[in-house]
Amino acid sequence: MSLLVVGSVAYDGIETPFGKTDRILGGSATYISLASSYFAKKVNLVGVVGNDFADEDIELLKSREIDLEGLQIDNSGKTFFWKGKYHFDLNNRDTLDTQLNVFENFDPIIPESYKGAKYVALGNIEPSLQGKVLQQVNNPDFVVMDTMNLWIDITLDALKETLKGVDLLVINDSEARELADEPNLIKAADKVRAMGTKMLIIKKGEHGALLFTGEEIFSAPAYPVVDIFDPTGAGDSFLGGLLGWLDYTDDLSTTNLRKAVIFGSVMASFCVEKFGPERLKSLTEKEIYDRYREFRRLSQIPEVD
Ligand code: AMP
Repeated sequence: MSLLVVGSVAYDGIETPFGKTDRILGGSATYISLASSYFAKKVNLVGVVGNDFADEDIELLKSREIDLEGLQIDNSGKTFFWKGKYHFDLNNRDTLDTQLNVFENFDPIIPESYKGAKYVALGNIEPSLQGKVLQQVNNPDFVVMDTMNLWIDITLDALKETLKGVDLLVINDSEARELADEPNLIKAADKVRAMGTKMLIIKKGEHGALLFTGEEIFSAPAYPVVDIFDPTGAGDSFLGGLLGWLDYTDDLSTTNLRKAVIFGSVMASFCVEKFGPERLKSLTEKEIYDRYREFRRLSQIPEVD
């Protein structure tokens, strides 16, 4: 199969209680592509970078066999820059700086060779741009979309319009409550699904995730990561692992969707162990499958009579 990933490619400045970095590779498309590259046979990336984008970062993406025909290099400015600081509990972060730079004029142009993608990841960018991507692809089997509070606040109509073409929306609990205007997550899920997306995943930070397929609800545990170093990119790595697994298996049954949610959780749990995308550079198949099995053991509920 081939998987299309659209989103931001960025440099991030990150501060956590454990350390600080002024400039490290980031962006939603970067994390999604890296995480999905461990499963998908071919990952095609669409995004934009500026004249400061380092050769070594291009090489990193290429080393994971990520196709960069769709990565625009805009020499008129710098790469999108985001700076965030995490609080002591690591669940909350403040955005300290956002410099759109070349991202401001980003027009996602899907190369001809990417248009047949069966699996599409719409990383967190403005909903109308996500919609533009859907207009260019030929009838994909499965579209997953991410978004954030900002777009719920300022572009709600465009968000709802784009949702109509989406199979699975992945958001966190506060976003679900806000989007549905409903405090109860189960009721909120129904309301969000009524907006257009067939399925919904609500991520609960370090407490796991809920998958609503319409047929069933699946509750995935969170992995008890001992060394959380930097949560940046965890949500995107979740999405990448999930969609990468679906692309690899090409199976949209509810059982396989459950597996996909766990593989997403596996990739997110690795992502947070080191700064930026560092940990996603060189995982082994054994590490990934071993952690999947740990997830299984973690949540086995004994039978009662
Ligand atoms: P996550 O931690 O999974 O929510 O994603 C973090 C990534 O999102 C960082 O690497 C940032 O570069 C990127 N990011 C932050 N703000 C935005 C934004 N407004 N649009 C697109 N990407 C963003």
